[in-house]
Amino acid sequence: MQVQLERVLEQVLARNPGEREFHQAVTEVFESLGPVLERNPQYVDAAVLERLCEPERQIIFRVPWVDDAGQVRINRGFRVEFNSALGPFKGGLRFHPSVYLGIVKFLGFEQVFKNSLTGMPIGGAKGGSDFDPRGRSAGEVMRFCQSFMTELYRHIGEYTDVPAGDIGVGGREIGWLFGQYKRITNRYESGVITGKGVTWGGSLVRTEATGYGTVLFAERMLATRGLGLDGMRVVVSGSGNVAIHAIEKAQALGGHVVACSDSLGYVVDEAGIDLEVLRQVRDVERLPVEQYAARRSGAHYVPSARVWQVDAQVALPCATQNELDETDVKRLVESGLLAVAEGANMPTTPEAVALLQSAGVLYAPGKAANAGGVATSALEMQQNASRDAWSFEHTEERLAGIMARIHDSCAETAEEYGDPGNYVLGANIAGFTKVADAMLALGVV
Ligand code: NDP
Repeated sequence: MQVQLERVLEQVLARNPGEREFHQAVTEVFESLGPVLERNPQYVDAAVLERLCEPERQIIFRVPWVDDAGQVRINRGFRVEFNSALGPFKGGLRFHPSVYLGIVKFLGFEQVFKNSLTGMPIGGAKGGSDFDPRGRSAGEVMRFCQSFMTELYRHIGEYTDVPAGDIGVGGREIGWLFGQYKRITNRYESGVITGKGVTWGGSLVRTEATGYGTVLFAERMLATRGLGLDGMRVVVSGSGNVAIHAIEKAQALGGHVVACSDSLGYVVDEAGIDLEVLRQVRDVERLPVEQYAARRSGAHYVPSARVWQVDAQVALPCATQNELDETDVKRLVESGLLAVAEGANMPTTPEAVALLQSAGVLYAPGKAANAGGVATSALEMQQNASRDAWSFEHTEERLAGIMARIHDSCAETAEEYGDPGNYVLGANIAGFTKVADAMLALGVV
């Protein structure tokens, strides 16, 4: 790593102690930026890197709520508004017990580059809480959402900061968050949050967009080697929003999806995952994925283990950060892995990424491959601003065009910087350059 970059990285690590995931995300980006700084010393002069690593604003707040037994509970809420050089802050909310400042900052930092790659006018942010929705009644989750928004509402707005969903925050929670925002402000400000239901300001395709986009990216990446998903053996981790729609699109393109998972274990169904059963178990009944195996003859469940024990030609990690490690990759490569496209954020450990790259496996980092979700959120904002509602076909066509452009911009940038096929380098440089230029244009702010 270049001296300049090393110096800034050291500062970032020292100024943000204990934030392991944030350190990992910054290090990964910095490892790509050496050649850009050589060509553009103006970025160094204007301290663009130092500014990029310091969020514009970080909000931490108490979220009190009352459970069904009448007991008062306290959680911690976060919103990290990372960078607004390209547009209003934009990024999801995560409700999961593992959430702390380091996770929110890693996600917010990644979001800055991802949003830049979409080509849409959106800055980067992320938020959430250490609230665990699992095992909570609908009433408890609603009261939590209302309390969370009672603080958050003063920080957001269609020209300021536009949250969305992430782990633990789906359409149901977005409804309760928006309902409370509307109640407090007395404004039907649709553009303040995305992922809304289609009958009250949401966009068609938004729910599907992250999973669909990830698979579209994988398909285009495979095409660079004259391959396609048709007939490929596919393994997906997770069974939430991103995973389910990745499975749907992979199947639509002829992929044979044989396994998926949740935080408790994984299921294998050699006949191919039956999406109707999976949706019933996960979306409708909100049960662990184990129930899928109980309802499908021929399928089996493996508890307390990672889905990467199942052979795959295409792996789509769609659950959480650092869920695919070196040991998993070694095994998958030996059994014929051809491509990895990340639906989740930073699911592959740095050692595993290095191994994938040295083994010549096609590898698409999340900030490029899963950008379809936020891109379609920006399309939702466009529809809200013009009080319009586009058809599914039109919106999906827009998504496909955006994913193709992101893929091509990463591939072209990697080539321009002398490392063709390195999508990590391409995504980091293409994402960074646009934000850095905007920061230069806006002065020292
Ligand atoms: P969901 O809450 O809908 O689903 C998350 C899935 O991942 C569940 O199957 C969950 O299992 C599993 N999971 C969560 N935490 C862990 C863990 N620690 N170990 C193993 N499995 C885990 O979330 P999404 O599908 O929306 O998000 C999945 C990933 O995609 C995240 O990394 C998110 O940041 C990323 N992403 C999401 C976007 C979106 O539009 N929703 C946009 C871009 C990226 P369980 O139910 O047992 O907890």
